[in-house]
Amino acid sequence: MSSKSDLFERPVGAPLLASTNTARVRDQAFSGFDLPQELQSLSDVLREFVKKEICPVEASLDPTERAIPEDKLALLQAKARQLDFWCLDAPVEFGGGGLSTFQMTVVWEQASRHRFAFPVPGGGVFGYSPPVPLYSGNDDQIDRYVRPAIAKGLKTFTAISEPTGGSDPARAMRTTAVRQGDHFVLNGRKMWSTNADEADFGVVYARTDPAKGRAGISAFVLETNTPGMHVSKIPVMRNHWTTEIALENCKIPVENLIGKEGEGFGLAQKWMVRGRLMLASQALGVAEEAIRLAVDWAKERETFGALLATRQGIQFPLADSLVELNAARLLTWQAAWKDDQGEDARVEASMAKLYASEMGFRVVDRAIQILGGMGLAKEMNLEHWFRDLRTMRIVEGGSEIQRYLIARDMLGAAAIGRRD
Ligand SMILES: Cc1cc2nc3c(=O)[nH]c(=O)nc-3n(C[C@H](O)[C@H](O)[C@H](O)COP(=O)(O)OP(=O)(O)OC[C@H]3O[C@@H](n4cnc5c(N)ncnc54)[C@H](O)[C@@H]3O)c2cc1C
Repeated sequence: MSSKSDLFERPVGAPLLASTNTARVRDQAFSGFDLPQELQSLSDVLREFVKKEICPVEASLDPTERAIPEDKLALLQAKARQLDFWCLDAPVEFGGGGLSTFQMTVVWEQASRHRFAFPVPGGGVFGYSPPVPLYSGNDDQIDRYVRPAIAKGLKTFTAISEPTGGSDPARAMRTTAVRQGDHFVLNGRKMWSTNADEADFGVVYARTDPAKGRAGISAFVLETNTPGMHVSKIPVMRNHWTTEIALENCKIPVENLIGKEGEGFGLAQKWMVRGRLMLASQALGVAEEAIRLAVDWAKERETFGALLATRQGIQFPLADSLVELNAARLLTWQAAWKDDQGEDARVEASMAKLYASEMGFRVVDRAIQILGGMGLAKEMNLEHWFRDLRTMRIVEGGSEIQRYLIARDMLGAAAIGRRD
C-alpha cells in the first residue's frame, strides 16, 4: 500500500494507489486457504480417531472423572502409536512427528474435539511432549531425558511461575541456583506447575546471577526424586490440577543445566510462540464442537410450539460463534505460518492466543445457554470446557499480558511513557 507521505504528497485527484506496484500485488493475490493434501488427510484421520476412539471412552466414564483412567489411556495410546500419532510436535530425530507450527495448529484443533481436550489435546492419548526448551539441550540431555520421555510417553513439568507472580517472571523470580563445585543448589518455591506430582522430571527456572535480571536466569532439568524437592497439589477449577514445588537445598549436577548460565529466559521465550498457538488451536477445536452441539440441539428442541432453531435469539449467538471461530482460526494460522517462515511471530501469537481463548469461552458460554439445563449437565462436555477455557485466559500469559504485548508493539517506547 502507499505510504502515508505518498498519500499526502500526491497531486490532488491522482489515484490513491498510484505508487503501489500493482503487478506485485497481483502476484501475491489471494489463492485460497486449501490445506496441502497430505496435511488435510492427516487432519481428517486424526479427527476420525478422536471421534471413533477417544469420544466413546470418555462417554463411558463416570461424569466426575477428571481424566481418562490409566488403563483405558494405555489402550488408546497403543492405537495412536500404531498410526504414528505420537508426540506429533516433537522433532523427528528425537522420536516425534516433526510437524511444523502450522501443521500442529491444524492437527491440534482436531485433536481437541473431545471432553479432555486440556491441558494436552487428546488427553495424553497422543503422548506428552517434553518441555520444548529441552530440544535445545546437549546430546547427553537429549539421550537421558528427551528420547525416553517420548519413547515411554512420560509426563513432565515446567516450573517458571512463583508465589510472587507468573505474568512477569523475569522480575518476580526468587528461586536461586548457586553453583557449588560440580552441583547447583536450588532454593525457592514454584507455583502452578502442571503435572509435577506425576512426572519423573521437568524443567525448572532459577536465578544463577541475581544482579543480571532476565539475563541471570538459567534453566535446569530437575528430577522429581531429588532430595529437597517437595511437591503438593493445588486443586483448581479446571479438570486437571496444578502443583506447588518447594525447593530446599536441592542439589542437582551441573550437567543438568540446559544451554549456558543465563540463557534460561531466552530459551523459554524462544518456544513461547508455539506454546501460545497450541493453546489457541485447542480453543478452536473445543469451540467447533460446542457449536456443533448447540446446532444439533437447536434443530431438535421445541419450545412454545416451534424449534429453537427458528428463533433469532438462538440464531444470532450461533452465527456470532461461527464468525468468531473462523476469525480465530485465521489469526492462529497466520501466526503459525509466520513462525514457520522463521520470522518473529510473537505479536501474532499473542493476538491468536488472546482472541482464540476469549472466543472459546464466549462460544462455550453461548452453547450452554442454548442447551439450557443440559448445558450444565456433567455428562455433556460443555461444563468441562467452560472451566478449562476460563483457565486458558490466565495460563501462558493472561489476556492482559497478551494485550500489553500487542499494544507495546503498536506504541513502541510511548507504551512505557517515553517520547522518542
Ligand atoms: C491451571 C494452571 C496451570 C498452570 N500451569 C503452569 C505450569 O505448568 N508452569 C508454570 O510455570 N506456570 C503455570 N501456571 C501459571 C500461569 O502461567 C500464571 O498463573 C500466569 O502467568 C499468571 O500469573 P499469576 O497467576 O501470578 O498472576 P499475576 O502475575 O499476579 O497477575 C494477576 C492478574 O493481573 C493481570 N496482569 C498482570 N500484569 C498486568 C498489567 N501490567 N496490566 C494489567 N493486568 C495485568 C494478569 O493477566 C492476571 O490476570 C499455571 C496456572 C494455572 C491457573
